Amino acid sequence: MTKKTRIYLYDSTLRDGAQTSTVNFGVHDKKEIAMMLDKLEIDYIEAGWPGANHTDDEFFANLPSLKKSKFTAFGMTRRPSSSASNDSGLNALINSDVKSVCIVGKTWDFHLKNALNISEEENFAMIGESIKQIVSKKKEAMFDAEHFFDGYKANPNFALKCIKAAYDAKARWIVLCDTNGGTLPSEIFNIVSEITKIIPGKNLGIHCHNDTGNAVANSLAAVEAGARQIQGTINGLGERCGNANLVTLIPTLKIKLGYDVGISDDNMKNLVKTSHFLDDLLNKERDRFAPYVGEFAFAHKGGLHVSAMAKNTKSYEHIDPELVGNTRKIMVSDQSGRSNIIARLKEIGLDPEDHIKFSQISDLVNQVKELEAQGYAYDSADASFEILARKSLGVVPNYFDLIGFRVLDERKFNAKGKVEVVAEATIKIKVDGKTTLAVAEGNGPVNALDKALRKALSKKYPVLKNISLTDYKVRILTPSAGTKAITRVQIQSSDNKGHKWTTIGVSENIVDASYRAMHDSITFKLMKEGFTG
Ligand SMILES: [Zn+2]
Repeated sequence: MTKKTRIYLYDSTLRDGAQTSTVNFGVHDKKEIAMMLDKLEIDYIEAGWPGANHTDDEFFANLPSLKKSKFTAFGMTRRPSSSASNDSGLNALINSDVKSVCIVGKTWDFHLKNALNISEEENFAMIGESIKQIVSKKKEAMFDAEHFFDGYKANPNFALKCIKAAYDAKARWIVLCDTNGGTLPSEIFNIVSEITKIIPGKNLGIHCHNDTGNAVANSLAAVEAGARQIQGTINGLGERCGNANLVTLIPTLKIKLGYDVGISDDNMKNLVKTSHFLDDLLNKERDRFAPYVGEFAFAHKGGLHVSAMAKNTKSYEHIDPELVGNTRKIMVSDQSGRSNIIARLKEIGLDPEDHIKFSQISDLVNQVKELEAQGYAYDSADASFEILARKSLGVVPNYFDLIGFRVLDERKFNAKGKVEVVAEATIKIKVDGKTTLAVAEGNGPVNALDKALRKALSKKYPVLKNISLTDYKVRILTPSAGTKAITRVQIQSSDNKGHKWTTIGVSENIVDASYRAMHDSITFKLMKEGFTG
């Protein structure tokens, strides 16, 4: 067997990713992200720019130790008309506690004329001498050729001389950057192919931005043309439209194209976790449609489609979801037939062939159709589906009965004269034949009701203290002729063990819809904990 070609991965989430308008990493965040990238076995982790800001200085002073990845310090070539050995910026990079240094420099003559006001010769010297200085200090040197593709299109001779200066000074990597993100895959392929005639592909890297939605395609085009290092970020985080998404590139390179990306098969299964980790750290909603790692990346809907899936998964899936740590998802929807329901029952551990009667499945199919017509959507409310399914088989205990609830909202001025909105909920339920009353306050009616309900149940089920409501979504469904508008509430709950589940409620009243979703959420948790009611 021939040895697979090695593609090196360079993650710039901590520097380029941190340029995103909504992102502000603290030192602790940077450390956590670096550890996660090391666990995934990314070759290079761009740690930041020492000397550029307080956070980066503090991070460089306390770099976590890594098992496999290598930290890279990022900065600039020496300043014009100074010497590389005396340049304080360059020295900050070289003296930082990392083995690898990446410097960015100009390769578009437009910038020389319009911004820097330096000669071409001085620009070549700034690049060459800076790289030489890094190499002389026994550090691995990389050159980020800024605006390379625009520069090459405008003046190929000048752009080439710039990167040649870095290569001749023994830069390990020359990274061609599509800084504006406007270059298209065919152009990238053609230009990188030209460059490989002068600088070997084993020394070339690619850095793409996603301004035309082609950052991943562009990176692949560069690899196809011979480049062997890819720079990108987790989930494509980055300014404007983002950077090349490593989470998409890694499985594409490894699984689809058969390259060695330095990540073991076992470790590939951490891909979904890695992607979720960054979203969670940024408190960002997940992209459920993300290639490979999205919740819907291997989701199947529609009766015919699902029965074909059951016969042969290859018919509708381009890879086995388990390779990247994802799972197949069978959606239940109003298009669903029996096969969807059967597949979904298997997913939740019920084997329809064994215990379930033909008529029970038909009943469940009809029930789902009826409820979806009322506004329920079980596609994304797994926990509510499971309750519905188990209930129709008669195996869900009744943990409590609601007698009634009341919520009050009050808008008032507090002692400081500021507006304050508070809510109070009173709930009456029956647990074990005993009536229990609870009152709670909250910042809104749903919050107050949630607290009151759990208070009323806390004596019998202390485990409910560990649940929190992590996401709450409301959707007003447009009424059809002759009907009233209805509200659909979707709740995501999580517990202290890291489990998450989603439930749904539909009603003409938003608080009542929320209560229905809450009821399912609590029932689901108690069912999973093994309570028999
Ligand atoms: Zn960039």
